[in-house]
Amino acid sequence: MPDIYFDCASTTLPEKAALDTFARVSVEDFANASSTHALGNKASRILEKAREQIASYFHLEPSEVIFTSGATEGNNLAIKGVSYHCRSWGKKILTTKAEHPSVLNVYKELEREGFQAVYIDYDKEGNLNLQQLENALDDSVSLVSVMAVNNETGYLFDTKKVYSLVHSKSRAKLLVDATQAIGKEPVDSLSYDLLTFSGHKIGGLKGSGALLKRKDVQLDAQILGGGQESGFRSGTSPVPLDCSLATALRLSLKSLPERRENARLLNDFLRKGLSTIDEAVILSGQHATPFILSFALLRHKGSIVQEALSAKGIYVSTKSACSSREEGYSYVIQNAGYPERIARNAIRLSFCGRETIEDGRLFLEGLRDVLSTISTED
Ligand code: PMP
Repeated sequence: MPDIYFDCASTTLPEKAALDTFARVSVEDFANASSTHALGNKASRILEKAREQIASYFHLEPSEVIFTSGATEGNNLAIKGVSYHCRSWGKKILTTKAEHPSVLNVYKELEREGFQAVYIDYDKEGNLNLQQLENALDDSVSLVSVMAVNNETGYLFDTKKVYSLVHSKSRAKLLVDATQAIGKEPVDSLSYDLLTFSGHKIGGLKGSGALLKRKDVQLDAQILGGGQESGFRSGTSPVPLDCSLATALRLSLKSLPERRENARLLNDFLRKGLSTIDEAVILSGQHATPFILSFALLRHKGSIVQEALSAKGIYVSTKSACSSREEGYSYVIQNAGYPERIARNAIRLSFCGRETIEDGRLFLEGLRDVLSTISTED
């Protein structure tokens, strides 16, 4: 039986072209992009070309792209950077209860420092409670953080609506964590002031990523040093990684329509198959991205099913990879309104859009086999 990798929301196999870019730039343009000699200037030019390329995909100016090591760093920089910059007037910061720990844990730290955080609810279909958001918006709000696509369920939050609410009711800026949206869903220009993503989720390399920051957004740098990345992220520029990000993004956006259609067909196929397993409850609402399909089993422990599937060469996630090594529940699923038992037994399938229906058929066969051989929970 071939390996079936349904865990692309955790990470993706790097595209050969992204690896080639990394290898080529590492050798041909190894010089420090801050060095003022000819080799340094050449490395700097190639770095700026990568920045221009990324900016053009988002209809931004190159100066609005800050290279980072990934979304975790981008989220930390955006949230702390804006909050600290606005602390004299904007001690209120809003977000959702579904955000990734790289957002929620920063909010919790800021609460300990005296900021007032408000966490917005959502329902099982992935609809944000916009009324709650609207009620919380006032002139003391400096930052709102809303993810575009939830990493555990695939919920699509309506960041365009959030953006217009935030701008009509406050002076706040909107950070959109688009880590699971880039290369999966179109991103509207009028849906963010700051946006983060990671290279390794889109066929790029681990350790690459970007924070997009519109010119009018002011933030305090969190890493001080030589002043690279317009002073927002000091440290010698990893030019090969930054260039590989531009390559990965180009390929990911180019193949998006085709991959999305494949993911939709596979997702439909799997939803139909799972609906014939009486103990399976599908958790990704009908409007979720087709690239993520989450379900729970009523009689089997998610982690044990995952382990048994893994022994058959079928790789899936329980909760998100970042938190699945901790015992416990998925707060994302629990906060949507599901009981503990479901939040504990969720399994996430996530695709890149290159999988086949045959992969889906083999997965369902493997799952049925596992469910009939491992013991039930009670
Ligand atoms: N946000 C979301 C929605 C994610 O899915 C992830 C990765 N699981 C991150 C942020 C953090 O990305 P990274 O680990 O690449 O920094």
